Amino acid sequence: MNLYTALRNAFPADLDAAAVETDDGLHYRWRDLERGSAMIANLLESLELPEGARIAVQVEKSVEALMLYLAVLRAGHVYLPLNTAYRQSELEYFLCDAEPSVVVCTGRNFSWVSKLAFTVGTRSVFTLNDDRSGTLLERASHFADVQAPVDRHDDELACILYTSGTTGRSKGAMLTHGNMLSNARTLKDYWDWRPGDVLIHALPIFHVHGLFVAIHGALLNGSRMIWLAKFEPKRVVQQLPRATVFMGVPTLYVRLLAEPGLTREACAHMRLFVSGSAPLLLDTFREFRERTGHPLLERYGMSETVMLTSNPCRPEDGERVGGTVGKPLPGVGVRVFDDAGQPCAAGEIGHVQVRGPNVFKGYWRMPEKTAEAFTADGWFKTGDVGRFDERGYLSIVGRSKDLIISGGYNVYPAEIESYLHEMDGVAESAVVGVPHPDFGEAVIAVVVPRPGVQLDPEALIASMKQRIAHFKVPKRVFIAGELPRNTMGKTQKNLLRQAHEKLFA
Ligand code: ATP
Ligand code: MG
Repeated sequence: MNLYTALRNAFPADLDAAAVETDDGLHYRWRDLERGSAMIANLLESLELPEGARIAVQVEKSVEALMLYLAVLRAGHVYLPLNTAYRQSELEYFLCDAEPSVVVCTGRNFSWVSKLAFTVGTRSVFTLNDDRSGTLLERASHFADVQAPVDRHDDELACILYTSGTTGRSKGAMLTHGNMLSNARTLKDYWDWRPGDVLIHALPIFHVHGLFVAIHGALLNGSRMIWLAKFEPKRVVQQLPRATVFMGVPTLYVRLLAEPGLTREACAHMRLFVSGSAPLLLDTFREFRERTGHPLLERYGMSETVMLTSNPCRPEDGERVGGTVGKPLPGVGVRVFDDAGQPCAAGEIGHVQVRGPNVFKGYWRMPEKTAEAFTADGWFKTGDVGRFDERGYLSIVGRSKDLIISGGYNVYPAEIESYLHEMDGVAESAVVGVPHPDFGEAVIAVVVPRPGVQLDPEALIASMKQRIAHFKVPKRVFIAGELPRNTMGKTQKNLLRQAHEKLFA
């Protein structure tokens, strides 16, 4: 089924009810989402694009951008969202790789984006600004506001979602209508979406979290969204009494905790806080629960698979365990295997592999990478390392690419980070391996002190030596004001490795 049709079927009977409310006071009804996306879909259909045409979109967050996404689904084309932070050289890579038929960009970028687009064979470039101006809506306004969604099978392409590029060059993950719909339905049930739920949407909409988890969740439940163009902790706190669900990356929770207004009372109306996209510190989990009474629900997923595991929502499904990403979602297979391709016992660390109706079709135009990414028996290798506990909760220990092998021993950065984190005055840290003539790789750490604290690197090293095996102790500790992060709050360890690669050379 076309994903749009499934979402549309879940709209409330009263199409005049509020569907989206923006922070600058606009109200969109369900009817507006339906009509606006129909007009844009009709515009796209009038272009008579080839089968499988990609529609690349790099625009600021707006409800019209959401309509554009729905329109691309309706017209049966392939949606390709791009991070708004990407500049010219980055966009060049994506447009050359994806060869989109249509590009939609902000008016501000039109001159250079259009030049670039036409060199890769793009037929039309439209503009869409966050104040509803631009050629996309101007052109669409001449089209009818009814449109019959194009028939699409579950295994037909709906979207190419480029991975965040945390471990290397971004790869285009090809997701089908069925991938996303199956996952959205699973989450609707597992997270217990119910009538009356209201979502605060404060995430960007070019990434799996904000676009698929948050938006599909709300639409498939016919739930109103309170739509914040940017994450502003104060605005979120103000809206909490009117909402029931909030989704964020860990850094958003850290910023919320810095708001004095975040109290038990402010959160009394809330049902669910979801965290994901990057590891949530146990401290943040505990502090949030103490302050608000809500245990954050941490889940784990990726561009290639949408969501894979989740801590329970309903008490009868179990408790939410901080420091874990929960259990495999119903219908999703998750296993942890060792280097020799054998299953790991509970407590043992290994490679996380997954399968299910949510797992993507492959990387766009990268047949070798796609082949390498699957095991002989058809499981997708996530590239993450983790372990199951006795109760079947998964913990993500890090990425296989971040694993450090020093003097022949495996060192898991997350383990060392957790020791550092227990030390007085340490706010956060990142542990990476850099080339070393004797050890192959050497462990080093970049540590961010708590505000107002002076940390002594040598003292940190000495105290770690008291507690853990010497081969795991960082050979050098650097103090920094912050860690390099991308827009989704993921630590960019590749940048740290690059910065220190000559340290022992
Ligand atoms: P690339 O694949 O290009 O290196 P990326 O893996 O960061 O980038 P995404 O698909 O956006 O791109 O992110 C998926 C990854 O995010 C997962 O593989 C995992 O490492 C991490 N992740 C997601 N949720 C969690 C979580 N709750 N805890 C720890 N890590 C998480
Ligand atoms: Mg990845």
